[in-house]
Amino acid sequence: MPDERILVTRSSMPTLEEYVNEIAPLWDSHFLTNMGEKHQQLERDLLSYLDVDNITLFVNGHNALECVLEAMDLHGKVITTPFTFASTTHAIVRKGLTPVFADIRPDNYTLDPAKIEELIDGETTAILPVHVYGNLCDVEAIQDIAARHGLKVIYDAAHAFGVRKNGVSSAMFGDASMFSFHATKVFNTIEGGAVCYRDHDLKEKLDHWKNFGISGLEEVEYAGGNAKMNEFCAAMGVCNLRHLPDEIAKRKLVAERYWDNLEDVPGIVVHRPAEGIESNYCYLPVVFEDEFGATRDDVYAALRAQDIFARKYFYPLTTQFDCYRGRFDSYETPIAAHVSTHVLTLPMFADLTMEQVDRICAIVRSCAR
Ligand SMILES: *Cc1c(COP(=O)(O)O)cnc(C)c1O
Repeated sequence: MPDERILVTRSSMPTLEEYVNEIAPLWDSHFLTNMGEKHQQLERDLLSYLDVDNITLFVNGHNALECVLEAMDLHGKVITTPFTFASTTHAIVRKGLTPVFADIRPDNYTLDPAKIEELIDGETTAILPVHVYGNLCDVEAIQDIAARHGLKVIYDAAHAFGVRKNGVSSAMFGDASMFSFHATKVFNTIEGGAVCYRDHDLKEKLDHWKNFGISGLEEVEYAGGNAKMNEFCAAMGVCNLRHLPDEIAKRKLVAERYWDNLEDVPGIVVHRPAEGIESNYCYLPVVFEDEFGATRDDVYAALRAQDIFARKYFYPLTTQFDCYRGRFDSYETPIAAHVSTHVLTLPMFADLTMEQVDRICAIVRSCAR
């Protein structure tokens, strides 16, 4: 008996009491934004959690990505994936750069290194891969290509917060990584984001860039924008970060319940984390191949009929957006096209119960022919 709506995600929140305690000092200081105490604390907490040397917080992940592209002074072409959220491709285009699309790997949906090299030409200045669903890209192969061609690597790591590979933080790969702290992400600051980066010299630039390029009381060094994280969002982050290990542990149980339920169903493709990967269990993607006997859209509709909301994520490909149609002379990306039309991300959040997971999986399995 369907007793309640199940949405695809549910934002993690501290108790009201914990949050009120965190923001109470703001009523004494009247300091609400502009890199105040909570902002500074969250930066310190994140440096430690992510094991990185350099971080700059932003109002959201998208602005963080635009800002780092601008700060790195890129020009020309950027090799990237069409199997991503609008933000990745939009950031490249909005910074006056040309995206060049390469196909993804069928096993983890990230940019395929074997497809990158043939697309590099004299105008290419960077690679912008995405760690899709928390699956890390083939970071070694991508680094090798970038080194041989003198390209920057900027990861869209919006899905990879807290993920580690053989103990190494996802924030350590490439020249920079963007994280999103949007309400729907594993770790949220309501809205928010950050860039982690290798070159410490970028710190001053990024810190100033997000505040109109203001570098001193009477100095303005860059034509920057306004992309600062405010104190209330930073305080939410400070609270949520305390509970993140517990949240991820709960997500792991949810994910394992799904996989146990679904991985042996003919025509259903799910992937457990690869060897050496400490996952954050941010999404629960399921690919429905022809053998399953029902399409992705059939399953989506069957769940909707029971008030369960899955998501066609990522669909359509960014290259199929109206605003980009016919615009970029790109490589064909048949694997990305296939996954995009066959994948569904099922509800996934820490407080999902095992009974709810079983009920969702029973509906999914009942669609099989
Ligand atoms: C969420 C997300 C973004 C954008 O982050 P915001 O914080 O919402 O601006 C970018 N890329 C990917 C892959 C995302 O999932």
